[in-house]
Amino acid sequence: MSRKPLIAGNWKMNGTLESGGALAQAVADGAADAACDLLVCPPAQLLYPIGRALAGTPVQLGAQDCHAEEKGAHTGDIAAPMLSDIGCSHVIVGHSERRENHGETDGTVRAKAEAAHRAGLIAAICLGETEAIRDAGKTNSFIIGQLDGSVPEGSTAANTVIAYEPVWAIGTGRTPTPAEANEVHALIRSHLSDRLGADECAKLRILYGGSMKPGNAAELLAQPDIDGGLIGGAALKAEDFLAIAAAAKG
Ligand code: PEP
Repeated sequence: MSRKPLIAGNWKMNGTLESGGALAQAVADGAADAACDLLVCPPAQLLYPIGRALAGTPVQLGAQDCHAEEKGAHTGDIAAPMLSDIGCSHVIVGHSERRENHGETDGTVRAKAEAAHRAGLIAAICLGETEAIRDAGKTNSFIIGQLDGSVPEGSTAANTVIAYEPVWAIGTGRTPTPAEANEVHALIRSHLSDRLGADECAKLRILYGGSMKPGNAAELLAQPDIDGGLIGGAALKAEDFLAIAAAAKG
């Protein structure tokens, strides 16, 4: 089964109208050469202007979070239907920084992914172990627990991507070896196959995230179960982001 790779940029809390606009434009300018799908996830205040700037280009637009409910008294939050209203195709849910800084549990993440699905968005569901869990040899059982808790029933290859992001690799310059990363991706695919069906999971894209850079992208993306990347720091330089995209062969 060949899956078209997806290279997604998580800009986190970075970017102004000027700098974010220039970054999005530079990504769009290089997008025609890419053999993969491209997605940028700017901070909330840039979603609308960048969505407009990307209209008509192959670069898709994603948000970094959404609320689980559709509207109401939730100061500072954004609902999934609001994101689809302004042209988002994707929303990241369950990033480890949200789990850690905002106390999000697997249950919160699952409810947000369900809200994304109801709004017609693709949920990019993030999960990954801490260094302590890896050192204790408990990565596999932890990942299975996160999958069972965070991935809703009704998830399909069309409405979901999974991002495996070992917490200890995010922003640190450290990565698992490509074989170690692939081992977890294969576990994710086989565990979800039991729940969601083997045919669906053969099509499901599972991204790797955590210090992916132009220098290590090709060997990570060459692994059979790594179907793209969720890129943080290297997504803030169009040249680096596009170099990673160039390493993702369809
Ligand atoms: C991330 O936070 O999703 C991420 C992968 O960050 P970085 O690429 O900077 O490690």
